[in-house]
Amino acid sequence: MLEGKVAIVTGSTSGIGLGIARALAAQGAHIVLNGFGDAAQIDGLRKELAAGPSYSAAEVTKYGFAQAAQLRRAEGGGAGVKVAYSPADMSKPAEVVGMIEQATRELGRVDILVNNAGIQYTAPVEEFPPEKWDAIIAINLSANFHAVRAVLPQMKQRNWGRIVNIASTHGLVASTQKAAYVAAKHGVLGLTKVVALETATTGVTCNAICPGWVLTPLVQKQIDDMAARERISKEEAQARLLGEKQPSLAFATPEQIGALVVFLCSEQAAQIRGVAMPVDGGWTAQ
Ligand code: NAD
Repeated sequence: MLEGKVAIVTGSTSGIGLGIARALAAQGAHIVLNGFGDAAQIDGLRKELAAGPSYSAAEVTKYGFAQAAQLRRAEGGGAGVKVAYSPADMSKPAEVVGMIEQATRELGRVDILVNNAGIQYTAPVEEFPPEKWDAIIAINLSANFHAVRAVLPQMKQRNWGRIVNIASTHGLVASTQKAAYVAAKHGVLGLTKVVALETATTGVTCNAICPGWVLTPLVQKQIDDMAARERISKEEAQARLLGEKQPSLAFATPEQIGALVVFLCSEQAAQIRGVAMPVDGGWTAQ
């Protein structure tokens, strides 16, 4: 469905970003991976994703992404996609712009931008370290602005583009101990709306997705911290975390977020503009 498009997914070496990159590659989009990780792991991901649309959604559901891609490669593979990697640090505006330039140079264009990279830090506001505040605002909010600013001219010129910002339920509601994260994610929704209005008469759309709890390293750390603090097992901490916020009592998954990004990139979604879509098991329905 997205054959020939070029997609950048920031923070795609792990968690939700990796799920999104896999979903876009499975639709035939060329991918620019970004994020931290060791060289061998990133190289492995590049090879896995390069199998592209060679595996079906049913195979992915049955075997998981890695095994489905491996099976197909063993059978001779499919068309495949190009997969580049940018090591850009999203806390540095010049590197964010450099990532867009590198992608355009290596893959010829950028059609889809998914601003996903993000970090978390928890503490009461009066104990919140100012350097953590600055880092969270830089990576979770300002990087989105710098990337959008750099990529919009070429999207407008071709009159087609998709910008998807991975916000959070914390872009819609607050929780204690997350001043910087909640401020940044509310900011992401504001930026999303402005970009959507400024591109409203063009073929470029800008939307946000607001995941609830997704079991990734970012959330595992919060589970581990809770288990240590409350002297409970990790399983109990996980159940408590879900019980506090997410009525479904189940995690959302990177695959589900990836599928929604694919939909927002489709022609059917061309008139979805400036929205914040929760994938949160009912968290924000309460
Ligand atoms: P994760 O820790 O698994 O992955 C974060 C990714 O961002 C990694 O690839 C990491 O290398 C990259 N990254 C971190 N700092 C970076 C930097 N300075 N420059 C470039 N890359 C950087 O986290 P995740 O849970 O997959 O989170 C992804 C996004 O989803 C974040 O924006 C997060 O706020 C959001 N989110 C997550 C959840 C959840 O429950 N996991 C819920 C709502 C929103």
